[in-house]
Amino acid sequence: MSHQRIAAMLLSLALAVVPLVGCGGESAQDADGTLHVVATTGMIGDAVEVIAGEHVDIYTMMGPGVDPHLYKATKGDLDRLDRADVILYNGLYLEAKLGQLLKRMGSTRIVVAVGEVIDDSLLQYPDGAEGHADPHIWFDLSLWREAVAEIGQVVAEADPTNAGVYSQAAAAYDDSLAMLHEWTAEQIGQIPDKQRLLITAHDAFGYFGAAYDIEVMGLQGISTVSEAGLYDVTRLVDLIVNRGIKAVFVESSVPQKAIESVVQGCRERGHQVQIGGELFSDAMGEEGTPEGTYLGMVRHNVNTIVSSLK
Ligand SMILES: [Zn+2]
Repeated sequence: MSHQRIAAMLLSLALAVVPLVGCGGESAQDADGTLHVVATTGMIGDAVEVIAGEHVDIYTMMGPGVDPHLYKATKGDLDRLDRADVILYNGLYLEAKLGQLLKRMGSTRIVVAVGEVIDDSLLQYPDGAEGHADPHIWFDLSLWREAVAEIGQVVAEADPTNAGVYSQAAAAYDDSLAMLHEWTAEQIGQIPDKQRLLITAHDAFGYFGAAYDIEVMGLQGISTVSEAGLYDVTRLVDLIVNRGIKAVFVESSVPQKAIESVVQGCRERGHQVQIGGELFSDAMGEEGTPEGTYLGMVRHNVNTIVSSLK
C-alpha cells in the first residue's frame, strides 16, 4: 500500500471519528453531520418537519392514500431505514409487522414508537380488537401533543447542537395543537345531539369521538387487516334511517365499496344519506395542499364532518 493510500485511509478514519469525539459521543449523526430521520406515517413526518425540518433529513415512508395497517416496506424504504440515525413510528400495532421489524432495528440506532409514550390509562381497548389498543391516537389532539413532545425530545437528544432550536419549535407547535384541540371541540359541539354520529369505513375515530363528544362507528374495526365488519350493513342502515342521519364518510386510505353499500341500503329504505366527503384518517393529503399537513388534515376533517352532519 502506498503512503498516499495509507494517509488517505487514516484521514477517513479520523473524519469518521471526529463528530463522535466532538460531541462527547452523544450525537447520533453520521460523519456527514446531517441527522437522518425516517418516519412511518405522514403525521409523524410532518411533526419532524415542523420541529427540525431545516436541519435534518426526513424520509416519510407512507404517502397520501396509504393504509398503514397493510403497509409493507419497499426496497427504497429499506435503504433509507438502513441509513437512518433515528426511526420514529406510531406503534400500538398501527404498523403491524413492520412495527416489529423497526423495533428490532433499535439495537443499532434510535428507534422510538411515539404513540407508546402515552399512559396506558388514556388508551382505548375496543371490543373485537383482540386486546390491542386503538392506535389512532392522532385524532385526540391532547394525546397527539404527548407524542409530538416525544418526537421533539428524541430529535433534540440525537442532535444536541440544534436542541435549542428544536425545543423552541416544538413549544410553538404545541401551542398550535392546543388551539386546534379547543377549536375542534367547539366545532363538533355545533352538531345537534341527535345528528352527532360519525360513520366511517374503519374505526379510526374512537379517540376523536371520546375527546370531542361524538358517537363513532366504523364498518371495519380499528385495523383494516380483517375484512369482517364490526357492524353489519343492515344494522347500520337501520340506525341511519331511525336517527335520520344525513351523511356517512369515506376515508382517503380505505376502499369506498363498503360505505357505498350502506348508502345504497338506505336508499332502498327510502332514506337519502349522502357521502359527506372524504376524511383523512390514517394518511394525510397530497403534499402542497392544506390537507398535506397534520393541522390542515384535522381542520379539513372537522369542517367536512360539521358541514355534512349539521
Ligand atoms: Zn386505521
